[in-house]
Amino acid sequence: MTSTTSLKTTRSEEIFAAAQKLMPGGVNSPVRAFKSVGGQPLVIDRVKDAYMWDVDGNRYIDYIGTWGPAICGHAHPEVIKAIQEAAEKGTSFGAPCYLENVLAEMVIDAVPSIEMVRFVNSGTEACMAVLRLMRAFTGREKVIKFEGCYHGHADMFLVKAGSGVATLGLPDSPGVPKSTTANTLTAPFNDLEAVKALFAENPGEIAGVILEPVVGNAGFIPPDAGFLAGLREITREHGALLTFDEVMTGFRISYGGAQQKFGITPDLTTLGKVIGGGLPVGAYGGRRDIMQMVAPAGPMYQAGTLSGNPLAMTAGIKTLELLQRPGTYEYLERITKKLSDGLLQAAKDTGHAACGGSISAMFGFFFTAGPVHNYEDAKKSDLQKFGRFHRGMLEQGVYLAPSQFEAGFTSLAHSDEDIDQTIQAARTVMSSL
Ligand SMILES: *Cc1c(COP(=O)(O)O)cnc(C)c1O
Repeated sequence: MTSTTSLKTTRSEEIFAAAQKLMPGGVNSPVRAFKSVGGQPLVIDRVKDAYMWDVDGNRYIDYIGTWGPAICGHAHPEVIKAIQEAAEKGTSFGAPCYLENVLAEMVIDAVPSIEMVRFVNSGTEACMAVLRLMRAFTGREKVIKFEGCYHGHADMFLVKAGSGVATLGLPDSPGVPKSTTANTLTAPFNDLEAVKALFAENPGEIAGVILEPVVGNAGFIPPDAGFLAGLREITREHGALLTFDEVMTGFRISYGGAQQKFGITPDLTTLGKVIGGGLPVGAYGGRRDIMQMVAPAGPMYQAGTLSGNPLAMTAGIKTLELLQRPGTYEYLERITKKLSDGLLQAAKDTGHAACGGSISAMFGFFFTAGPVHNYEDAKKSDLQKFGRFHRGMLEQGVYLAPSQFEAGFTSLAHSDEDIDQTIQAARTVMSSL
């Protein structure tokens, strides 16, 4: 925020200035630095329900939800109580614990593709492992990902998406060897022809295709009709595996994820965010014959000191229990659609080109007329305008993701009143843009 802001942010500014001397960019994950919207993040003191309070005492209605996990609302009393009780028995055993069975059964029951599961500590870890597994199972090395899809920060996924027919992936970050990404092929999202071309150019060499079935890391981009089904068909035809990265969409797009919502069952799935209930958990799972490749059942090595620890399992179990209550997803669908429609109407009424939408508890909004089918389309957004909008919304007490290329999240704790206030705030800010 600049000095023209109406928000008092003195303490945030002091703490963040000190943080920048202690940690690279002052943060432990880049997007938190708010670089794309001016670079002054708010330092948060506490969270509860749909709200966050910064260290200067300002309250915000929060639509980041700690980037996905907080689907039941922040610091849900039942989750906190369960974590406290579990902590009394110790935080990590480094040995089998019954709670792993409980969460594993819940995940297997919920997610159509998952017959067996392995818990890890983050979405990044889950995606690294699933890539190794696709390669181990097929004996092939190449993999297709989509432009704008994020699968964590592992080397093999940090590829700047080139044209749909790029045969060599170029690393997106220094420190990633070309040799590591040479086997990562990229295609534009929603482009089946590009995927077919890659398979034709690399016969018998592609281990699998990985994607966010609903993109959330290039802004919110849903799959076009037939896209997921097309990928299912093409991968089958070529003996390749299909992996849905549902780290963001799992238990959010529906209880069984995007695969349940769209009725397309991949071979493998990665999970994270919601299944940890705010503690560090990731998971990968899928067909039993593939998962049997994983050590110690099979030869593909993958391990973790804190994986499946009782504290994280407890937070996940309690969160999924809350999500199983009747009416959950109907509620999320209704308030999120109301928010999305309200934002678009506000943009229309105030004369701004905008497009967007929502599915269940995930939404997105671009300052461009659209439609947005892929990352190239998303990049047409007016980023300057978004920066001003974002800052204006903070001043109105609404905390949105600090980038056009991030989806927004609602939770069970967001009330109709919160949504109404947010739409009203957007209207006010947009009329001054
Ligand atoms: C967040 C995210 C990841 C990475 O998960 P971390 O827990 O941040 O490592 C991977 N894939 C998708 C789709 C994500 O949204």
